[in-house]
Amino acid sequence: MAAIEISKVSKIYSGDARAVDNVDIHIEDGEFIVLVGPSGCGKSTLLRMVAGLEAITEGEVKIGGKVVNRKDPAERDIAMVFQNYALYPHMTVYNNLAYGLKNRGTPKAEIAARVKEAARMLELEPYLERKPRALSGGQRQRVAMGRAIVRKPAAFLFDEPLSNLDAKLRVSMRGEIKHLQKRLGTTSIYVTHDQLEAMTLADRLVVLNAGRIEQIGTPLDVYHKP
Ligand code: ADP
Ligand code: ADP
Repeated sequence: MAAIEISKVSKIYSGDARAVDNVDIHIEDGEFIVLVGPSGCGKSTLLRMVAGLEAITEGEVKIGGKVVNRKDPAERDIAMVFQNYALYPHMTVYNNLAYGLKNRGTPKAEIAARVKEAARMLELEPYLERKPRALSGGQRQRVAMGRAIVRKPAAFLFDEPLSNLDAKLRVSMRGEIKHLQKRLGTTSIYVTHDQLEAMTLADRLVVLNAGRIEQIGTPLDVYHKP
């Protein structure tokens, strides 16, 4: 059974134009899928439909065998990482990491253990009592990833998570994401317009153009075929 099954999914915002047009992607358990393509090709719309942040016009999304077609993120066991980090400015790093678990009523000791583990993985231990404004861009992005990791979701959805970082930091964070992926093995969908990022991270790439799948395959398949 595929971990995430996107079947004949389309999005029509208004009129006839399809922002996403009849897309089929079957994602295996633990697979890291990158959606890549030029601005406006429908990457973000597709990801947001999988996330339950956008209504699906046609088709079906299944996560772990369960249909999740409603516009309701809580219906799915997923965690998202955004480019703008979406951290709570008034909370410490610890509480930013713990917040989602507290809301779900996770026991305190379990929260502390998960936050500690994520902080160790992401080298955030020295910064747990700081507020986001006292962190660098890379540290903020690590907190955003930590918030997803502590949830232990069935899947991660990344929406251009590195695009607010400078070029050098982007390269090092790309390496960190790759490393985390190896370690956690969580099924992921990652959106980027950066081909190098796509090539480095992807088990399989999905190249979108005008809402349709233009190519799908390993980085080798997609970039090295004549
Ligand atoms: P990408 O993430 O690849 O840049 P998007 O998914 O943001 O592409 O956009 C795909 C298409 O859908 C574009 O033509 C865009 O203008 C359109 N679109 C995106 N969001 C909306 C919206 N909220 N209302 C109407 N059209 C939208
Ligand atoms: P609030 O803002 O909700 O008052 P607190 O800062 O008091 O939050 O922390 C909430 C819980 O998280 C408390 O049980 C606190 O002991 C624990 N906590 C906060 N920071 C850390 C940390 N660095 N390591 C372990 N536990 C922490």
